[in-house]
Amino acid sequence: MVSEKNVAVAGSGRHDGPVNTHADSSPETDVVWCFQCGSEYDLDVETCKECGVPTTDVAPTTADDVGDAGDDQMAYELHEWTGQGRSLLDGMLSRLNVEHAWQGATLIVREADEEAVDASIAEIEVVAMPTLDPAEPTIVYELDELDDQQHGRLLRRLGDGGLNHAFDGNGDLFVYERDEAKVDEIFSGLEQADLSEREFGEGISEDPLSVITDMFVALTRLRKRPNEGKSVVNVVETAQLIEQMRLPYGMGVDVWSSVVDQSADLSDLLTSDEVVGNDEVEEKAAALHGLLRRLV
Ligand SMILES: [Zn+2]
Repeated sequence: MVSEKNVAVAGSGRHDGPVNTHADSSPETDVVWCFQCGSEYDLDVETCKECGVPTTDVAPTTADDVGDAGDDQMAYELHEWTGQGRSLLDGMLSRLNVEHAWQGATLIVREADEEAVDASIAEIEVVAMPTLDPAEPTIVYELDELDDQQHGRLLRRLGDGGLNHAFDGNGDLFVYERDEAKVDEIFSGLEQADLSEREFGEGISEDPLSVITDMFVALTRLRKRPNEGKSVVNVVETAQLIEQMRLPYGMGVDVWSSVVDQSADLSDLLTSDEVVGNDEVEEKAAALHGLLRRLV
C-alpha cells in the first residue's frame, strides 16, 4: 500500500534563515491550515476546501524545512490513502515531533526518522482498515497474556457482539473507544469457556436416538416407582451411555449439554451415599423427562 523512495534532496544548504518548525512556535493560533496544501483558513473552517481533509492548528512546513542542511530526506507516496488517513498520520507525526511536510499526498520526512514514520504508518494502517472508521477514536489492547483458548474466545465474542476490531503487526487489538466497556466485559470473562468449546464423549456403538428413548422410558418408570431398584439402575446405566455419546447429529450443543449435565446430576443423586429425599429426585427426573420429551 505504501511505497517509499528516496527523493534526491541531497542536503544542500538551503536553510538561509531560521527554520520555522511548528512544534513549539505557535501554541495559540487564530487561523487553521490544511496540512496538505498549506491553505490558511479561519478558525471555524474544519475541512480544506481544496483537499477535503480536516484542517489543523499546526502550521504546515515545506519540504525545505524538514531537517537540517546535511540531512537526507525521503518521501512516502500516500496517494492510495484516504485524506482521513493522511490527516491522522499528520497529527501523529506532529505529536511525536517528527519534522515532516506534504507535497500533495506525498509525505516528506528526514531519513533519520524512517523508523518512527514506519511505526506511525503501521499504526494508522490498522485504524484505517475497513473494519474501523479512521475518523473515530480507537483504543488498543495488548494480548500477550492470553492463551490460545482465550484468544479464540475473544475473537468469537467480538464477532458475536458485532464489535468492529482490527489487529496490527504486533497482534495488538484495536477497537472503538465507544466500545470500551463492552470489550472490557469480554476480557473479564475470558476464563469462562464458550458453549461451542463444550466437549462430549468419544461415541458409542448404540443408536443415539434409542439411548435417548431408553432414558425417557427409564425416567417415566422412575417417576412412578422412585424406590424400585430396577428403575434406579436403568437411569444410572443410561446416564453412563449418554456421558460417552458424541453430540447427536442435528442436535444443538446447548440442548445436548443440558441432557448430559442433567443426566449426570440425577445419576449422582441416585447413587449418592447420603439420604436423598424423593422430592429432590422427582424434581430432577421431571426436568430431564420434560427436556427429553422434545427429543424423542
Ligand atoms: Zn488543502
